Amino acid sequence: MIQKKAMLIDITMCIGCNACQKACKVQNHLSDVEEKKLSPTAYTALETFDKYPDVFVRRMCQHCEDPTCASVCPVGALTKTPEGPVVYAVDKCIGCRYCMQSCPFQVPRYDWTSINPRIYKCILCTDLVKQGLPTACSEACPTGATKFGNRDELLTEAYERMKAEPGKYVDKIYGQKEVGGTSILYLSGVPFEQLGFKTTLQTTPLPALTWNVLEKIPNVVAIGGTFLYGIWWITNRRDEVKQYEEQMKKNGQDHDH
Ligand code: SF4
Ligand code: SF4
Ligand code: SF4
Repeated sequence: MIQKKAMLIDITMCIGCNACQKACKVQNHLSDVEEKKLSPTAYTALETFDKYPDVFVRRMCQHCEDPTCASVCPVGALTKTPEGPVVYAVDKCIGCRYCMQSCPFQVPRYDWTSINPRIYKCILCTDLVKQGLPTACSEACPTGATKFGNRDELLTEAYERMKAEPGKYVDKIYGQKEVGGTSILYLSGVPFEQLGFKTTLQTTPLPALTWNVLEKIPNVVAIGGTFLYGIWWITNRRDEVKQYEEQMKKNGQDHDH
C-alpha cells in the first residue's frame, strides 16, 4: 500500500531564513528573486507579522486530502496522487481559474501576462516524492521546521511534541482535520487565527458541496473544443473572477496564502 506523505511545519522552529523558498525556486526552475507572497514564481512564501516579529509562517498549497480545486476543474487538470501531492497538468488547463475561486486557502496563482492560460502552485515535489525522496524545501530547512514524512507518523510526532512541551504549543494540529485533512500540517505557539489561518473551516471535505458534475465534462471537451470552450468559459467567468479578486484584495486575503 502506498504511504501517504505529508510535511509537518513547526512554526515555533522556523527562523525565517527563506531556505525553503530558495530550494523550491531551484527545484522548479523559477526566478531566484526573493518573494514575500505566493505568485506564479513563488510556490511557497514566508509571511511575517507586526505583532509577532519572531514568527514566520510558510504559505503554500495545503495538498488537501480531498481537494476542491480538483473537484471543480472542468477538464481534470488537477488531481490528488495516492502519495499525497495535488498535481497539475498544464496541457489540460483551459485557464478558467475556477480552482482559484474554489480553493479554501486561496492558493493557486495565475499568470495574467501569459497568452497560455495556466495556474501555478506547489506540487509537493511530486517527482521526488514518487521516487521516495523528500521535498526540496524540507531538505533545505536547516532547523527541521519543515519536516517531510509519512502523514500518520508526522501526526504522531506532532502530538508527541505537544505532549512533551505543553506550554509551548497551542492545542491543535492545523491541517489534521480542516476540509477533511491536508498533507501540510502545522504546529504553532501562537493561536492559529492570529496568524491568518482560517480556523472555522469545516472538517468534512468541501468537494461534496461543489460542482462535482463538472468533473465528468472534460474528456469530451478536451478532445473536441478545448479552445472554444476555453474562450466561452473565460468570458463567462471573467466577471466572477474579477469580483472575487477585488473581494480578496478588500479582505486582505491575498496576504494569507
Ligand atoms: S490548498 Fe487549494 S490548491 Fe491546494 S489542494 Fe487544497 S484546494 Fe487545491
Ligand atoms: S514541496 Fe516542492 S514545490 Fe512545494 S514548496 Fe516545497 S520545494 Fe516547492
Ligand atoms: S527553511 Fe525552515 S527555518 Fe528556514 S524559513 Fe523555511 S521553514 Fe523556516
